[in-house]
Amino acid sequence: MSKKEWKNMFAFLGSLRGKHTDVLVSLVILSMLQAVRPFLSVILTGRLVDGVYEGAGIKELAGYAAAGVGGIFLMSAAEGIAIMFFNRKLEYMQEIEGAPLNKKSMAMDYEYLEDVEVHGKRQQIEQFGGWSLMSRMLHILNKLLVATVTVIMAVFVVFPMFIRCSRPVSQGLAGSWLMAAVFMAVILALVWAEFRTGGYFNDKVAETRKLISKHETRSKYYMDILSGYEKQKDVRLCKQQRLYEREFRDIADHMKNAVDKMAHFSVLDMFTQQSLSSLTGFLVYIFAGTMAIAGIISIGNVVTYAASILKFTDAVGSMAFFMNHLKRNAVFAGDYVAYMNLPQRKHEGMIPVEKRRDGRFSVEFDHVSFRYPGSESYVLQDLNLKFEIGRKMAIVGKNGSGKTTFIKLLCRLYDVTEGCIKLNGIDIRKYDYSEYCRLFAVVFQDFRVFSFPLGENVASASEADAGRAEDALERAGMGERCRTLPEGLNTCVGKEFEESGVTFSGGEKQKIAIARAIYKDAPFVIMDEPTAALDPESECEVYAGFDKMVGNKTSIYISHRLASCRFCEDILVFDGGKVVQRGSHGELEHQDGLYRELWQAQAQYYA
Ligand code: ADP
Repeated sequence: MSKKEWKNMFAFLGSLRGKHTDVLVSLVILSMLQAVRPFLSVILTGRLVDGVYEGAGIKELAGYAAAGVGGIFLMSAAEGIAIMFFNRKLEYMQEIEGAPLNKKSMAMDYEYLEDVEVHGKRQQIEQFGGWSLMSRMLHILNKLLVATVTVIMAVFVVFPMFIRCSRPVSQGLAGSWLMAAVFMAVILALVWAEFRTGGYFNDKVAETRKLISKHETRSKYYMDILSGYEKQKDVRLCKQQRLYEREFRDIADHMKNAVDKMAHFSVLDMFTQQSLSSLTGFLVYIFAGTMAIAGIISIGNVVTYAASILKFTDAVGSMAFFMNHLKRNAVFAGDYVAYMNLPQRKHEGMIPVEKRRDGRFSVEFDHVSFRYPGSESYVLQDLNLKFEIGRKMAIVGKNGSGKTTFIKLLCRLYDVTEGCIKLNGIDIRKYDYSEYCRLFAVVFQDFRVFSFPLGENVASASEADAGRAEDALERAGMGERCRTLPEGLNTCVGKEFEESGVTFSGGEKQKIAIARAIYKDAPFVIMDEPTAALDPESECEVYAGFDKMVGNKTSIYISHRLASCRFCEDILVFDGGKVVQRGSHGELEHQDGLYRELWQAQAQYYA
């Protein structure tokens, strides 16, 4: 394993520090017990055989047997307790699997979420990483520790036998240093061959498993579409069933090939491993038997030494095997550590946001330009504008002119590429991020309502203030509908988890999202195409109630339907990422320019 892989692994294990340190302690104790116990039975069995051979009395033999059985019983009991503790701890860790990961995903800079590399890492972690990786790692470490202690124990037990092989070859090959050296060389060669072939087949199996997981991800994607009743609309109406059937068939074919391949490698692996280890066992017994026949060791020692040498070879093989596993998992640990360590630049600002009841916050865009991460072209260019406190501002323009991006920058979902945005004269990057976020209540055009109770959806919290939530829903035009709901604010939105849940229409969902913004009671209210999913009557309702909804807050209203924005005092016209016109509807209507062009083009549909 490289230095970096070790570093990643220790950094990953470091996340156990504090709350889960006891799992590491139990791991060490468990491994010790698992490694030492087999030697107890090997040594005592040897003694027992020697006792029988040398004609020891029944009392002495019974003493050996009792010591052996008693010792093994005690160690097994201790091992059982350690395993129980260890496994319970691991299970608990599996239960909270993903918690730190999800926390990180929710806190990380928004722009990372669309970074293909970061996204890939997250998927990789979901599949191989997180706390299930931790439990895998701990199991591997357990095996490695057991193997290491076994090697040490075996050397310690067998060492006296090699000391006895000190006579010159001239006195007979058996018991000579030459025989011992040749024997050790052959044994190590066999262990090496076992390790290399094992490694080879392991790599092949891992490669095939990777292939399987690729197809599993594909399958999961399609299953996800087919399992959601909302997502199936397109499947049914566009008659995509054949398309999906073909995809599933293709996945099944690939999976079958991969599974066959994996089975093939596994069988070959098992065959070579078993052949080589049987050959090793055979040679070990021949060597120990020869030593006994030459009178260098006792019959009982044949049992002790042969079993210990075999434990040694097994342990060396398993050390190599699990080191391989550790190496492979260290890559996932690297992904996990890199993901968890992604910088949270948005959280670097420390200045608290001034608390003002009058909501008089001034915002200014100062020579702001922006391009999306990884993109060459600017979406916004040299924007200079100041928001008038407490006024209703509209942003209009064709699709793709940069209206939503402008809002994303204002809310710090992204940071500007050039220039700066100022709040009360200070660069917004210097403010405490979560305090800054509290200033904005936004309804994005791709808003989401979730399968939580209605009240929680509106309050964005598990404890909703019922009065405030009802008032917000009323002001968003959902009051009447809410009164028809048997469980009121406790009604679950959607039927994903609750039989009694209610499927709301697109327009109703949009009103719920608007109610959420009203509930937040932030000094800035931003509506990005807030009426796109509403019927004309509801649209009128929202416009008519807009004053009531936003009160004297600073509000920004985005739409490509100019008629929607007529009531705003200050209209910005975006084109190609620039503000090309600014004024009231009355002023812009009479100016030559994009606004009049768009207005006239849209007006003909209403004439
Ligand atoms: P509007 O709201 O005016 O319709 P947007 O601000 O959504 O426009 O988009 C402006 C431009 O930025 C479009 O050309 C769009 O393709 C591009 N864009 C939007 N989001 C991203 C993104 N996440 N990554 C790269 N380009 C984007």
